[in-house]
Amino acid sequence: RIITSYNSAEDNINVVVRVRPLSNKEIKNGEDLVVNFPWKWSSPGKYKQLGYVDGILGGPSGGQRPKLFSYNVVFEPAATQEDVLQFSGMKRLIEMAVEGFRCTCFCYGQTGSGKTHTLTGPPGLFGLKPAPYSDQHGLIFRSFMYLFKLIQEQPGVQFILKANLLNPGSARKPLAVRWSKKARGFFVENLFTVDCEEFDDLLAVLEEGLRNRSVGRHNMNDYSSRSHTILSVHITSEQPAEGGVFISRSGKINFVDLAGSEMTKKTQSEGKTLEEANNINKSLMVLGYCISSLSDSKKNRTHIPYRDSKLTKLLADSLAGNGVTLMIACISPARSNIYETINTLRYAARAK
Ligand code: ADP
Ligand code: MG
Repeated sequence: RIITSYNSAEDNINVVVRVRPLSNKEIKNGEDLVVNFPWKWSSPGKYKQLGYVDGILGGPSGGQRPKLFSYNVVFEPAATQEDVLQFSGMKRLIEMAVEGFRCTCFCYGQTGSGKTHTLTGPPGLFGLKPAPYSDQHGLIFRSFMYLFKLIQEQPGVQFILKANLLNPGSARKPLAVRWSKKARGFFVENLFTVDCEEFDDLLAVLEEGLRNRSVGRHNMNDYSSRSHTILSVHITSEQPAEGGVFISRSGKINFVDLAGSEMTKKTQSEGKTLEEANNINKSLMVLGYCISSLSDSKKNRTHIPYRDSKLTKLLADSLAGNGVTLMIACISPARSNIYETINTLRYAARAK
C-alpha cells in the first residue's frame, strides 16, 4: 500500500514505522541489525532509498522465521527528515487541519528510538534568530513551514493561529481536564495559549516545550522519557462568501511526543518514578485500545474508552472526529532492543 491510500476517506488512521540508524555506541559494541527490508519501493526520483510497504524483523537468532509486519509506510534508516514529511501522510493532516478538521500526529516507541528526533530534530537547532534552515529539522518545523505556505496561498481567507503546549503526564502539576458542553470536547483548565501571527511565534512555542521537559533520575538517560508532550496548533479561519456571509472553520493539529513505551522493569524505576511509569503504561495502553477500536469501529460500532486516561481525553476530539491520525512508530534496528522493537511493531500493527 502506497501513499495514495491517504486519498481514501476510509483511512483515518495511518501507521508508519521509522527505523533509526544504529548509534555510534551500538556500532562500537558490534551490534547487528535485526530489521530488514525485503522489498524496496524504488522511484526514479531521489527517494529510492526508502523501504516502503512492509517492514520485516528478523527472529532473535539464526534459523528462525522472520516476523512480518505491514504498515502504510516504512522508513528505513537512510530516510531523511524531509522524507518523513513528504511520505508519512503528514501533509494531508495539515491540509485537513486548515480545512477545519482535527488531526493528530504522534510518535510512539521506547526511549532512544527516535521520537524526539523525528518530531523536533536534534537539540541545538533552536534559539537562534532568524531560525536557520537545517536538513535536521524535524516534522514539527517542516509542518509549520507547510502550514504557512498553505495559508499564504489563500490571501482572501483570514486565519488565526493559536498554539499551546502541555505535559499531561507531568506529576508536578496535574492538569485538570474537564468536559465543555459549549466546545463539545475535553479541555484543560488554565491552559496557556499563544497567538501566533508569524512562523517564529509558532517556533517559540516549540522551543519553550524543549526547555520545559521534565527532568528526572532515570537510567535510560532521557529527560523526556517520563512524560507525554502535546503541542497543539488551533487553526481558525473566516472566508468571505456570497451575500456578505463568512464561512468559518476551526481545525486543529496535535503533535504528540509520547513517553517512552519501554517496560518498567527495564528502566528500573523506583518509588514515585514507578508510579509515573504505571501511569504512562496505562495511558499508552488506553491509547492503543482507542486507536484499535477506532479502526474496528468502521466495521461495527464499538465502545471507545477515551475517558480512561487524560491523554486520550485530550486527544478524543481529533481521534473521534473526521480528522486523520498519524502514528509514527519509532524503532531501533539493534539486536539489544529487539524485544522493545517487537512490542512497538505489535502495538503499531494493532493500531492499523
Ligand atoms: P526518543 O525521543 O525516542 O527517546 P531520540 O529522538 O532522543 O529518542 O533519539 C535518540 C538518539 O538517536 C538521539 O541522539 C538522536 O539524535 C538519534 N537519532 C534518532 N533517530 C535518528 C535518525 N533518524 N537519524 C539520526 N539520528 C537519530
Ligand atoms: Mg524523546
